[in-house]
Amino acid sequence: CGIFAYLNYNCPKSQKEIVEKLLTGLRRLEYRGYDSAGLAIEDGRDATETTSVVFRATGKIANLEALLTASEGELHGGTHFETHCGIAHTRWATHGPPASKNSHPHSSGADNDFLVVHNGIITNHQALRETLIRKGYVFESDTDTEVIPKLTKYLYDKFSEKCTFRQLVMEVLRQLQGAYALAFKSKHYPGELVAAKRGSPLLLGIVEGPHPGEQHALVTSEGFAPNSKRTKRMSMEFYFASDASAMVEHTKRVLHLEDDDVAHIQNGAYGIYRMERVHHEDGVESPSLAY
Ligand code: GLU
Repeated sequence: CGIFAYLNYNCPKSQKEIVEKLLTGLRRLEYRGYDSAGLAIEDGRDATETTSVVFRATGKIANLEALLTASEGELHGGTHFETHCGIAHTRWATHGPPASKNSHPHSSGADNDFLVVHNGIITNHQALRETLIRKGYVFESDTDTEVIPKLTKYLYDKFSEKCTFRQLVMEVLRQLQGAYALAFKSKHYPGELVAAKRGSPLLLGIVEGPHPGEQHALVTSEGFAPNSKRTKRMSMEFYFASDASAMVEHTKRVLHLEDDDVAHIQNGAYGIYRMERVHHEDGVESPSLAY
């Protein structure tokens, strides 16, 4: 499948512009899967609203576009977000048939606290699903992926006071076996995006420039005014994609994540962190859910 995610910082964009960026990314990745497509963005009713809305459609990306066009009234061209996070996916089904309910992004529950797009296969999803069902979670899809946002919510409810978004995701990853490229979005961590990789490809693209409102102060005929870069607000854009083809039109500054890398975008900056794997004597990597 194809994953595409986008976060802007100090870089005003309307909800419509963000949707268009996500769709453009998905179109480049469509060859990787056309069972269904979907995306999650923040609800655009006002710029402080961090609740997410999800759009998903089976079949080609054109169907998702048609759904978004039909929902035009729900999207906002007027409000501009200084920071906004969107995640998107085009699916090649491995667990569960092509169907709207099996399309990504998958959610932690009715309030969309956590949303996840996934490329790969979680081999221990059945055991995790049974554990989470015992904890009271209700599953909506047949996918292996859905355990991920629900496990994230479960661990968040246990640890939220102590956890950064990155630490929370690392706790989740410790429980997963199999292959993944993942992007996580949460209303509890507005303006943040966490992505991780093991076995499936994932790239991070970075775009840096002056804040549109400060462009004149910054840029002279010789380029950037001396020493102005540090003192002025910079505008940042971050992209995650499964493939460089979705990145090239935006930036040449691209990092190829390695297995067990966790990327965290926060406060307009990125960090790449390493997962410490737990190796057991029998060679099984992840301990069972022991919370
Ligand atoms: N295993 C997941 C699913 O079936 C992800 C498949 C993909 O990589 O598109 O939904």
